[in-house]
Amino acid sequence: MQGARKVHWPLRCLALKHSLRVFPNRNESEVKSYAFLFIALVACTQQQRPVVLAPVQMAAIDTSLNVGQPHNVFDTQRDDPFATTNRIDWPGPNRYRSSGGSPGPDYWQQRADYTIVASLDTGTTELTGSVQINYTNNSPDTLRYVWLQADQNLYRTGSKGSALFPADSRWGVRGFEGGYTFNDVRVNGTSVQPRINDTMMRLDLPAPLMPRGGKTTIAIKYSFRVPEHGSDRMGRDSSLYELAQWYPRMAVYDDVRGWNTDPYLGQGEFYLEYGDFDYSVTVPAGYVVAGSGVLQNPEDVLTAEQRRRLASAAASSTVVQVITQAEAAAAKTRQTTGTKTWRFRARSVHDVAWAGAPDFRWDATSWSGILMQSYYEFPKSGKAWEQAAEQTQWTIRQYSELFFPYPYPQATSVAGPVGGMEYPMFVMVGYGTDDPASIFGTVNHEHGHEWFPMIVGSNERRYAWMDEGINTYLNAFANEARYPGQSAYPGYLRNWVAAVTSGTQSPLMTAPDNIDPTALGAIGYRKPALVLLTLRNHVVGADLFDRAFRDYIRAWAFKHPTPGDFFRRIENGTGEDLSWFWRSFFYTTDVLDIAIDSVAMQSSEGQNFAKISLHRLTSVPFPVRFRVAYADGTAEDFSLPVNIWARGNRFDAIVPARGKVTGVRLWPDPSVPDWNPANDTWGTPPPANARGPVTRK
Ligand SMILES: [Zn+2]
Repeated sequence: MQGARKVHWPLRCLALKHSLRVFPNRNESEVKSYAFLFIALVACTQQQRPVVLAPVQMAAIDTSLNVGQPHNVFDTQRDDPFATTNRIDWPGPNRYRSSGGSPGPDYWQQRADYTIVASLDTGTTELTGSVQINYTNNSPDTLRYVWLQADQNLYRTGSKGSALFPADSRWGVRGFEGGYTFNDVRVNGTSVQPRINDTMMRLDLPAPLMPRGGKTTIAIKYSFRVPEHGSDRMGRDSSLYELAQWYPRMAVYDDVRGWNTDPYLGQGEFYLEYGDFDYSVTVPAGYVVAGSGVLQNPEDVLTAEQRRRLASAAASSTVVQVITQAEAAAAKTRQTTGTKTWRFRARSVHDVAWAGAPDFRWDATSWSGILMQSYYEFPKSGKAWEQAAEQTQWTIRQYSELFFPYPYPQATSVAGPVGGMEYPMFVMVGYGTDDPASIFGTVNHEHGHEWFPMIVGSNERRYAWMDEGINTYLNAFANEARYPGQSAYPGYLRNWVAAVTSGTQSPLMTAPDNIDPTALGAIGYRKPALVLLTLRNHVVGADLFDRAFRDYIRAWAFKHPTPGDFFRRIENGTGEDLSWFWRSFFYTTDVLDIAIDSVAMQSSEGQNFAKISLHRLTSVPFPVRFRVAYADGTAEDFSLPVNIWARGNRFDAIVPARGKVTGVRLWPDPSVPDWNPANDTWGTPPPANARGPVTRK
């Protein structure tokens, strides 16, 4: 993943998104606004099928996974979750988090509503802003101080992140010296002295903040120089700016840990409070700005023709060019003076980000009342970007129909130097090539993050698997639907195997900043996706898992679930005690390796039986399926529950046999991640099922 600019499915991820939505709001003529909205909604409720591109033939996948001979992959020291610096949070059950895996009767979370006014000086590459945060303490605790995230301090000399990640690495700071300057920090109008701890900032409150609804207002004036390489999460390229982590943000105070003060080191992502945002960015007059939320003042910043085209796009399932190539090219060289201010609002989100450039091409379309947009400089962005609006539309529709309806009014994809990064309603995607697949994987992945962690707001800084991993699980569904006949399985498995064989893996519960950067793709993304697919397909069944999984999203939408909440919700919904599964695949690095030791025939009272002696070679138990071949050329499948491993690592399966057994094969379906296929067969084994998609019912 690292540095891989060419994005093929199955993808790399890591970046995201946001876009603007341009349904007019109150600032303009009310009549016009509501008429526009009405037209847009009527036109878009018809759920037309999106235009779907012809599938792109992917490179042939090597399905002969040569994972080598079994060897000792279990490293006690490394695999003991208590032997790492990693915290284990599986709280409750209690009044906040129920035994059923849903928010309890006394569940609470803090609320942070932001008003941000900022201006970008492209001459000095400096952003200057002021933020007002209306913070509501819904906790049962009286707060005497609060913590905020000052992410730009990653670029201060001597920051923790700059010590941990090499300067030239993906998350590195590239020698850039920046960081926040805070000019005026006030709480309820009283000036306070911030206490800075790396990327975290503590404010002592002049008066205690009362529990259960107490409110306080924090106002901060700040500035920072925009790094060119913002650790692949923000940055700039010539006149193009991608702004994220661009204002001080409230740290999360929760019932699990109190203040979540893990610093921003680069590799670990974010954990933020939900609220509503109203933000304005002032940029050179020639700039076009894309951002999270809905543009509030299109009449101030767009031409009449652009507004007309947007209205058309909002009512169209095909792509409309809001700014054409010729218009973008002309804008690039046009001299402008002065500035313009773009104002956006976003509701029920935990962050906002934006991008600006003078020469964006801008495409838009819609589905189900949601405006889908893409912004890209051409030809710096590959020709694939002409399909990005449709790819965005396809993605949002796919996940809405499969998992949970997209709750936001718009979705935006922006091309730029950031390889892939997600924000609410707005994703940043690398420039790509002329091949649509060069951006589809990333567009699809980043917008998948709208569900995890934008809708389901888990702690990304602690649990990559709840963010990247579950998102990569979603991506398997999208990719197999987009490219029929392809399977997500081999690529995901290959990545996991590589981390095992290279000795770089760590348990999925490892905090992302503690994961070996070369194994981040495996441990943060593909192993969790693959083990969830395995759980769905080979342990609890697709129907029960899909119900439980959707139920988890519904239960935790716009809230802060922990791993325990996920585990409990899935166990409750599927009716299975899955402790063995979580322990094996989330808390250790051991792999599944079950073997057939021998097969013998027995008979009793005229009935023939086959005794299949099974041997579990690792600590990982797993329900067993095998296919028996008979001398007459027929075959028969048998299943055994995971409970067979409760008392040891050997089990003799004695099954009624229709005739003489000539061969046996473990895992008739070849998408079970057994480490060593060489010991999975006996005799002349019957054929396995054909490899196919792993997201089918
Ligand atoms: Zn990602």
